[in-house]
Amino acid sequence: MRVTPAGLYCEPAGVYIDPSRAVDRAIVSHGHSDHARPGHRAVLATAETLAIMRARMGADRAGGSQQAMPFGQTLDINGVGIRLVPAGHVLGSAQVVLDWQGSRIVVSGDYKRARDPTCAGFEPVACDVFVTEATFALPVFRHPPAVGEIARLLTSVRLFPERCHVVGVYALGKAQRLIAMLREAGWDRPIYLHGGLIPLCELYESLGIPLGDLRPLPARQKRGAAAAGLAGEIILAPPSADATLWARRLADPVSCAASGWMRVRQRAKMRGIELPLIISDHADWDELLATAAEVAAPEVWITHGREDALAHALGQRGIRARALHLVGRDEEDEAAEAPIAVP
Ligand SMILES: [Zn+2]
Ligand SMILES: [Zn+2]
Repeated sequence: MRVTPAGLYCEPAGVYIDPSRAVDRAIVSHGHSDHARPGHRAVLATAETLAIMRARMGADRAGGSQQAMPFGQTLDINGVGIRLVPAGHVLGSAQVVLDWQGSRIVVSGDYKRARDPTCAGFEPVACDVFVTEATFALPVFRHPPAVGEIARLLTSVRLFPERCHVVGVYALGKAQRLIAMLREAGWDRPIYLHGGLIPLCELYESLGIPLGDLRPLPARQKRGAAAAGLAGEIILAPPSADATLWARRLADPVSCAASGWMRVRQRAKMRGIELPLIISDHADWDELLATAAEVAAPEVWITHGREDALAHALGQRGIRARALHLVGRDEEDEAAEAPIAVP
C-alpha cells in the first residue's frame, strides 16, 4: 500500500481507496464528496454508497461499472482479500479490510463509535496497520451523548412555542441522523426540510431508513402566513442556508447547528448560532484513542485532520504513527468547517 498523488493505492490489487481523482479501479468508503469522486472506470462499494453516489452525481458519473459488495463478504483481487466492514459514519459507510500475504491493513474512512440509528455501527477489526481519520483529534473534542443534545433541542422547542427552530445540518448523514433521533425521542410532528435536504432524505427512506413525516418548507408564503404556520416547528437546512432570504420569512427563528465543532463556543458565536448542538459523525478524541487500542495495530496511518496531535498521543502509547497528509479531504461534512483556531 502506498500514497500516490491520487491517494492510497493498493499495488498488488491495482486499486485505489477513496482516490481524489478519477482512476481505473476505486473502492469508495462512503458517499461524502471528499471520498466519493465522479468518473472512476470501476467502483467497488456498498450498495448504499453506490446508490448515494448515483443520486448525487448521476448514474453515468458514479462509475463506469459499479460493483456492490455486502458487509462481510470477501473478494479476492490478485491475492489480496478485500472485505467491507461497517464504519458507523453515514448510511453505507465502510471500512476497507485488505489481507495480503499474512498481513492486514484496515482503511477506516471516516468513522464514529457513537450510536446512529441510520447506519450499521463501527466494528473494530484487529490489524497490522490501521488507517484513521483525525478530524477531531484534540483533547478538547469530547462529544457528549447525542441523546442529551436532542433533549436540549426539544426543551428549547417547548420553551419557545412562538418561535421556530432552524437546525443547520449536512445533507448526507447528519440530516437523517438528526431526524431519526428526534423520532426516537418522541417528536412525531412533521419536520420541515429546506429543498437541499429532500433528495437524500428520500433516498434514505427508499433504502429502508424510516424518517417519519417530512415536508418541504412552504414556498414563498406571505410573511404572516409562514410565521403562523411554522411557529413551534423544527426546520432542517444546510448550514450555509441560515442567512439566506427564506430564513428571514420564518417565525423569529432560533438558529441551531448540529456539529462536533459546536464544542467550540467561539465558533458557534461567530456563526450566530443561538443553540449549538454537539452532534458529530466523526470519532472524538477518546474514541480515536480507544479505537486505535482496540484494533491493536502496531502502526497507525493518519489520513486527514489534526494529524500531529493524534500522532503524538499514539507515539506516547508505543504505536508508530505516520501522517499521510492526503490532499482533497475535508471538503464535505463537519470536516469542511474546521475552525481557524481551536483553544
Ligand atoms: Zn465523511
Ligand atoms: Zn471525510
